[in-house]
Amino acid sequence: MPLAVLVFLALTATALGYSALCFFSPFGPCRRCEGTGNHISWWDKRRAANGTPSRPKRRSIRKPCRRCKGTGARLRIGRRIHNRAHKIHADGTR
Ligand SMILES: [Zn+2]
Repeated sequence: MPLAVLVFLALTATALGYSALCFFSPFGPCRRCEGTGNHISWWDKRRAANGTPSRPKRRSIRKPCRRCKGTGARLRIGRRIHNRAHKIHADGTR
């Protein structure tokens, strides 16, 4: 089998897998607070980078994360693209 066909199949499988992921699970964990919803200060990040064990992750929110407003979730990029395309199509075919 030629290399181009293998590359095409691999890219197609990756795209279909990511599309399915965005369909069934449109939200991913927030990258800034790692899905906890808590604000992580620069001091906590520095301690984690130095290898000092950070405090255990608590479910209660001390101060909400500014990026996800305390939800701990973010919309995946693929789902964001889908929503934008859907809105453009709906606006154009009205
Ligand atoms: Zn967050």
